[in-house]
Parts: sequence; C-alpha cells; structure tokens
Amino acid sequence: MSDNKYVYFFGGENTDGNGSMKPLLGGKGANLAEMARIGLPVPAGFTITTEVCTYFYANGQQYPAELKAQVDAAMAGIEKTMGKKLGDTDALPLLVSCRSGARDSMPGMMDTVLNIGLNDKTVEVLAKKSGDERFAWDCYRRFVQMYGRVVLDMKPKCKTDHCPFEDLLDAKKKKAGVEVDSDLKAEYLKELVVEFKAAVKTQTGQDFPDDPMEQVWGGIGAVFGSWMNDRAIVYRRMNGIPHDWGTAVNVQAMVFGNMGETCATGVAFTRDGATGKKGIVGDYLFNAQGEDVVAGIRMPHRIEYTMAQELPHVWEEFSKVAMILENHYKDIQDVEFTIENDKLWMLQTRNAKRTGFAHVRSAVDMVNEGLITPEKAITRIPANDLTQLLQPVFSGEGLKGRTPIAKGINAGPGAATGQIYFQPDEAEAVWQKDNSAKIILVRHETTPEDLRGMKVSAGILTSSGGAASHAALVGRQMGKAVVCGCDQVKINYKAETVTAAGKEYKKGDWISIDGFSGCVYEGQVPTAPSEVLQVLFSKTLKPQDAPIYQCFHQLMSWSDRYRKLAVRANADTPGEAEQAIALGAQGIGLTRTEHMFFDHIEDFRAMILADNVEDRKKALEPLLKYQQDDFEGVFRAMAGRPVTIRLLDPPLHEFVPHEAKEQEALAKKLGITKEKVAQRVKDLAEFNPMLGHRGCRLGIVYPEITRMQATAICQAAVKVMKEGIDCHPEIMVPLPGNAAEFKHQESVIREAATKVFREAGITPDYMVGTMIELPRACITADKIAENAEFFSFGTNDLTQTGLGISRDDYGTYINEYFELDIFAADPFQTLDQEGVGELMKIAVAKGKSTRPGIKLGICGEHGGDPASVKFCNKIGLDYVSCSPLRLPVARLAAAQAAIEAGE
Ligand code: ADP
Ligand code: MG
Ligand code: MG
Repeated sequence: MSDNKYVYFFGGENTDGNGSMKPLLGGKGANLAEMARIGLPVPAGFTITTEVCTYFYANGQQYPAELKAQVDAAMAGIEKTMGKKLGDTDALPLLVSCRSGARDSMPGMMDTVLNIGLNDKTVEVLAKKSGDERFAWDCYRRFVQMYGRVVLDMKPKCKTDHCPFEDLLDAKKKKAGVEVDSDLKAEYLKELVVEFKAAVKTQTGQDFPDDPMEQVWGGIGAVFGSWMNDRAIVYRRMNGIPHDWGTAVNVQAMVFGNMGETCATGVAFTRDGATGKKGIVGDYLFNAQGEDVVAGIRMPHRIEYTMAQELPHVWEEFSKVAMILENHYKDIQDVEFTIENDKLWMLQTRNAKRTGFAHVRSAVDMVNEGLITPEKAITRIPANDLTQLLQPVFSGEGLKGRTPIAKGINAGPGAATGQIYFQPDEAEAVWQKDNSAKIILVRHETTPEDLRGMKVSAGILTSSGGAASHAALVGRQMGKAVVCGCDQVKINYKAETVTAAGKEYKKGDWISIDGFSGCVYEGQVPTAPSEVLQVLFSKTLKPQDAPIYQCFHQLMSWSDRYRKLAVRANADTPGEAEQAIALGAQGIGLTRTEHMFFDHIEDFRAMILADNVEDRKKALEPLLKYQQDDFEGVFRAMAGRPVTIRLLDPPLHEFVPHEAKEQEALAKKLGITKEKVAQRVKDLAEFNPMLGHRGCRLGIVYPEITRMQATAICQAAVKVMKEGIDCHPEIMVPLPGNAAEFKHQESVIREAATKVFREAGITPDYMVGTMIELPRACITADKIAENAEFFSFGTNDLTQTGLGISRDDYGTYINEYFELDIFAADPFQTLDQEGVGELMKIAVAKGKSTRPGIKLGICGEHGGDPASVKFCNKIGLDYVSCSPLRLPVARLAAAQAAIEAGE
C-alpha cells in the first residue's frame, strides 16, 4: 500500500482533518472535521478527498487501488464511534448519508443520498428497535426514491418527463385519501417500497441493491458523478469556480429528526444574512428529515421566535454552539442541525452567503465587538457588493409574485420603474412637461445624441450592446439603472411597441428594470432611494438616523487609512462633481467635454459645416464662453482638487443631423443649401468610426478646436483662482499613438495657455498629458513621456484596440465565449491583465524611463472594478478614476490591494 491518504475520519477523538483543509476535504468535510475537533456534537463520518475526484475523472471513472481498504477502515471507525453496525439485523442498524462537498460551497448543485444501509431486513429491525414502524418505512421509502434518482439516474430528463416515484406516490396518496405524504400510514409506505423497487427494475433492468456496502459505493460514485452535472458546471462558471477543483465525498452516520415529536431538523444563520443584524435566525421542523425544511412541504417554525419555548434545552445548547462557532470562525455561520430525541447534532457549518448590506454591517459590528480587526473586515467584503448600498432598491415585498418578462446584462446597478419611451427627444419633452415623470428609455442601443433623453430617464433598457456599451457606461455614470443587451425584448420603433415573453407593451406602459439582476418586470415595482445617498448627498437623512450609513462610513474611513491609491471620479458636470466629493473623490480623473458640444449643438454644427478656418473660428466663439462656464462650475465644485479634462474625442459625424428634415432646417438656419449639408454629413460618415477621425486626430486637423478648449479651460482656471479657489487643471489629449501627435497638440495647448496666463497675470499649476489607449502609445510611451506630464490609461479603448474587439458589437458572440470558457470575464468590465495589463506595464515602465515622476492613472470603466483596481495598485499607478457611484468600491478595493500586498 502506498502512503496516499484518501480518506479522513471525523468524530470523537479521532478526527484527522481540520478546517484549513478545504481544498482537499471540501468545505463541508473540512468544517465537519473542525467542528468535531472543537468538541461540537457531530455524527461520526469520513471524507474522501477531492484528489480522488480528480483521479476518478482522469482515469475513466475508476478509483485509486488504495481507496477500498481505507473506506472499509473508516467505516469500521464510524461503527465503533456510534456503537452501531451497518446492516445489523440484531440491533439498531447504522445508516449513513453520502454527501457532496466542494471547496467552495455550491448549495444544492450536487447530490446527496440519505438513509443508506436500509434493506428489507434492516428496515424491520429499525422499526422494532425504534418502536416506530412508520418512521422506518418512511426512511426506506425516501431512500429507495433518492437512491433511484441520484445513483440509478432515474431523474426526469426533461420538463415533460415524469418522475416514476412521484407518480406512484401521488397514486398512493389518492388511494389512501390523504393530502400529504407525512399522513401515509406504514402499510402504504410498505406497498410503495415494493412498487418503487419494481419501477427501478423496469427502468434500469437491475434489481435494487440490498447490500449496504454496495449502496455506499453507489452513493460515492453518484456524488463524484454529480461534479460534472449540468447545474454544477453552470454554477461554477457563474461563480468563477475552476472545473478541476473536484468535490469531496462525505459519508456520515445518520441522525434522525424524523423519529417522533422530540425530534426536529433545521437550518440557521448565526446573524441575519440579509441585513447582518446580530442574533440567530432560522427555521426548524418537528419530525422531519434534512431536505424537508428547504422543500417547503410544511411551514417551518422560526428559531428566533419559538425555539426557546418549544425546545428549551436545545435552544440553550444551540445558542451556545452558535456563539462558539462565530467566535471560532469569526464570521457569520450558516448551519444545518438535527435534533434526535432532544439531542442536538451539528451537520454542517459554513461562512454564510449574504447581501452587501449584511456584509458591511456584520463586518463592522464584528470589529466593534472585538472579534475581528479592521484589516479583516476590509479584506472580507467583496468590494462590488458596496454598490448595493447606494442604489435605489426594489423592496422584497414589491417583487413578490412577479416573474421577469426578460433578462439582459445587469450593466448599471439600480432598480427603476417607469413608462416606456423609445425616442430620447420625446422622453425629454415628457419630462419637461412634468419633472416627476418616470421614464424607462427603451432602445436598440444608445448614442451620445441620446444623452438628454437618458438624463431624464429613471432607467435604460437596450436590446443590444454589451456591459461596456454606451448605454451601460454613460447610464451608470449618471446613476441610472441599466439593463443592456437584452435580446429577449423585441423593439419596434415604428409601431412604438416592445415585445417580451409573448406580450406586447406600448409606449407609455409601465415596466420595471432591475440593474442588479438584469431582470425586466411588467408594471410598477416600488423603489426606495438608498440610505447612504440620503445622508451624504440629498441630506434628507441625518447620520444618527441611518444605521446602514454609519456602518458604511466606518468601513470607508478604515479603507482610506489603508489604501495607497488615490481615487478620482469620472464626472462631467458640477452636480456629478459634488456627488463624487460626497462619495470620497480626491479629484476628477476624466471630464468628457462632448456633452458641452451637444448642449450647444447648433453652434457646433455651424463650425462643422464651415468651409474655411475663419468661419470655423467664428463659429467656435460662442462655444468658448459656454465651455468656460462649464469648467468654472466644475473647478468650483472640486475646490482645489485636480481636474483632468479630456479634449474633444468623438468623430464629428456624431454631431450632425442624419434626417433629411433636420438637415433642411439646419441648411435654412445657416443660409446654405440642404444638398451641401447632406453632402457634408455623407463625407463625415465612416465605415469604422471607432478607428476613424476622432481623438487627437480631430484637434490636429482642426487645431482651432483644441485652441478654443484649452483657452476655455485656462480662462476658467484663472477666473476661479481670482475668486480665491485653487485650481489644478490637467489637460488631456485623447488617443495619440505617436509622440508627434501629442507634441503637436501640446504646443497648441501651451501656446493658448501661455497667452491666457500672460494676460491674466497668474499661472495656475497646470499639466498637459495624455490618454494612453492605443497599443502603439504603450510601446512608445518613453517617447510620449518626454513631453507628456501624465498618463491616464483609457482602458475602454485600450481594450478595444488591444483585443481588436468592438465593444459596441461584441454582445452578439461574447456569451458563447463565456459558455465555452474562452473568456473567464468580460474584458470590458474587468481588465484583461494578461494582455491589456501587460501593455499597461510596458507603458508604465517606458513612461518612467524618460520621466521618472510621471503621474499615472486610469480612467476607463475598469477604474471601478475591484480586480482591476488591485492590478493598478500592483503596477504602481497613482490613482484610479471611476463613476461617482463606484467610488466606494474603488476605495475599498484599493485598501484591500494595499493590505493584501502587505503595504
Ligand atoms: P446540500 O449540500 O444540498 O445541503 P447535504 O449533504 O448538506 O446537501 O444534505 C442534504 C440534507 O440532508 C441536509 O439538510 C442535511 O442536513 C441532511 N443530512 C445530511 N447528512 C445527514 C445525516 N448524516 N444525518 C441527518 N441528516 C443529514
Ligand atoms: Mg447542506
Ligand atoms: Mg477613448
């Protein structure tokens, strides 16, 4: 025999494993061992390691040769500890369960078989020795059914398939004239066992196995087999669990919650998993076996309300156990237990899954209780979960009884209810008439032209476009709920209808969208604004009246103490800037200027249609004033914090009218022919605008635009400085791939700046730098940094150009990539570290080689994604910048990065 240890015993004094062995023993096995070790009442059992699962799949579903002897020895150990024997026909026989248990819990995804060890002989002994014939036959009936389903593969294969056991059970209930199976008397259960076994024979051609050890091996094989069932595979993909981890198998002595009225079974949380509030919550059911509590056959009792009265000693012991477990694991525990004749047995414990609210509250409380350190609280909370605390929410009540009519990509967290509008203009008109109008903008996709309509909408639903589509990025930054790429809805602009789940909805009909889940609902689901924003932003709540805010605030102040990365916001208006400051922004990492042009589109169109430089300059004049006003507003709001402003980026084609009627109106206004307008629009059209005449290429061909923008920025800075407010503008050139492009723009900017400052007699502390968003810019970053004072990684475009994937078009095939595990994550949501990240590293190293003190940041959507923030910390950026509502996520992730890096 080799030294390979495949089987770990737990129970009594002889526990082999412990709680730190999750990779080998699975979560369930490791924690059963740990509970046994700390003296909690755990029925004895053993765990077959995940290595056996790996071996099983690598070797044509065979086991290692050593396994059988190790299982036999461990089974003897259970018998000795429990004082019962498997298959005993003289005394109460040992029954066992065979349970799955992966490293990370996958609740309900894999199979478990209970009551193994029953056959026609042992059932009689069980009946006699327990004094409860019905109990024994109920166990046997359940066992044959469960074993048939799980081990002998008699599950229904499709929705229309019948389960032979359920059919027989139903027939029996009818014959006996009872409603629920717990009312079936022993004689009927006996008949059922015979009928169940006959069904097994008919369907599988084999006799039901009577030998208890053969049954055990059947259970073990089925559990390993269930690792590769469809549900389990899908669950792992959704939760990022690698397929090669494998599951462990736990074989454990049965304890019985179904042996009469002093028996019960239950599940509990040591604190509330929804809110995080202190105190045990849970359900229990008298005279029942494990799965009955969840299956909802009978209404369970609530532990926190009735256990102290109904089962006083058990309650006393159970609360003690819960406290021991929390003190031991220092986290909320989710436990399974069974009470056999007033004795408590613990069957499972694990760190409880919980909402973002519960995460924050429990972690902060536990720090204050002295149970964990602030570092532990910070590192334990999934940073993304913080968004839940900021968004308006659908109340649990409101969702009751509703099923989604469609599901898309959950792109902008939040919950919104409103009336359907398809045209942004119309949405705006509706809102102007009535500012309290609730609108859901429903579009195939959105473009910068739709901004006004988006602004007035509560939520945005698009039928195409991915998680980084315009609708998602801009909608999210505006704090809208966004569900995008929802191809289950069919939009007909002409008929002004949208069809979902076979029903047609018209303009003006109410729908609700949940940006947390991607679900779309019919009608009005009520929402409420988040408590945190009520305190910080609208000031409609006082901190002392806001317990969620208090926890949030504590967590944020701890995070700020640990993090090294600064956080900035992507914000375009004074309002957004104020919200950003309320949520902790230390500056603005990206102010886009497009909307300023859209707000004064007529003037800008005149400039686009001008024939010569002089006319162009003239057309730009009024824009200068508008832009300056906007920049002043942002500078004032930011009160001395740095503000990075990106010069005009999108192609001009986005700004001109595309409809004949609008073109005619414009022609009239400008005193030119409509043909000329149409021709110019046609000239501006591009096959691939993403790679077209945009970014600094615009400023190079039309330097007067750059000059106007730089002048507006500098004049705004001067004016605000004269008001006594400090200003740190950082003027950012978009999309250069080449040092010469940057240099060209830089000289236009500096020339304009120098002129303004000379005339004003003050020179603010300003910088000229660039976005890094093309692979070529990364590779030649040393040359660019000779002139650029800062780099800001525009990782949306850098991902598009680095991967050669258009983010506006990838929605059609990306899901296939996830299905096939080609992409583990959406590269527009979480940075592709291996590819785009390497480009960034090159840019950082090269940039520092020619300008050691170069300021480095990121302003793509990745700046608010936890994994990407950690990466930015690792490669030495100075700050991350993201949408205001993602700032708390970035602050927490930055603190996690610093703690994990041991900084
Ligand atoms: P899941 O992972 O789906 O919860 P489990 O392996 O935990 O599957 O078991 C399913 C149910 O059976 C649970 O309620 C569990 O408590 C119960 N159960 C499992 N093993 C035993 C046992 N040895 N004695 C009594 N109940 C058990
Ligand atoms: Mg369980
Ligand atoms: Mg870009």
